[in-house]
Amino acid sequence: MTDIIAISDASLRRASDILAAGGLVAFPTETVYGLGANACDDNAVAGIFYAKNRPNFNPLISHVATCQKAFQLGVKTDFATILADCFWPGPLTIVLDRAKGCPVAMLTTAGLNKIAVRVPAHEQAQKLLAIFDMPIAAPSANPSGRISPSTAHHVHAGLAGKIDLILDGGPCENGLESTIIDCTGAAPVLLRPGGISRKAIETALHSAG
Ligand code: AMP
Ligand code: MG
Repeated sequence: MTDIIAISDASLRRASDILAAGGLVAFPTETVYGLGANACDDNAVAGIFYAKNRPNFNPLISHVATCQKAFQLGVKTDFATILADCFWPGPLTIVLDRAKGCPVAMLTTAGLNKIAVRVPAHEQAQKLLAIFDMPIAAPSANPSGRISPSTAHHVHAGLAGKIDLILDGGPCENGLESTIIDCTGAAPVLLRPGGISRKAIETALHSAG
């Protein structure tokens, strides 16, 4: 059984308890519904790959509540600083080198020494991250290869019985995934187009000089 419950202070606390116990919780973000697990817990993250039938060489994005927390997980670069200032919180994922002592499980990053981080803007996602106070690994809450879910009902249709809880926060605003930029090299690399346009990113980088 997988419950769908409306978001409230009580259901957010329940979700946080489930995450702390190694469980899986679907929650809304401004992009699509994410399937969350404690990013620092190998077993919990293994549960994401299993529930989605996602190959474990496909790394997951770690979500945190603030830019400061993001740059504790990954090494800050000049490009990353500019993009974070412009677009966080929001639908942008930045790939960085893993920081020394980064607590995120190696399975989350599929064994890579780089980590993808995002600070989502969605009010309820922010609340969940603040209550849980640990990075949440969250790919889209759908079986691998299927369309990303923009409602709690879509999540239920794809993953009922495989995950512990679905937090219903209504439909996601844009239904588009986050834009992913690798900021580790001499120039930023767009890895995936998404909610923030290439033009907006180029403008931000150019106007920062
Ligand atoms: P999603 O499929 O929405 O969960 O987004 C995950 C995608 O982010 C992966 O398929 C990669 O393209 C990218 N990604 C995540 N982590 C990393 C990483 N450590 N290095 C490079 N790309 C990553
Ligand atoms: Mg996806």
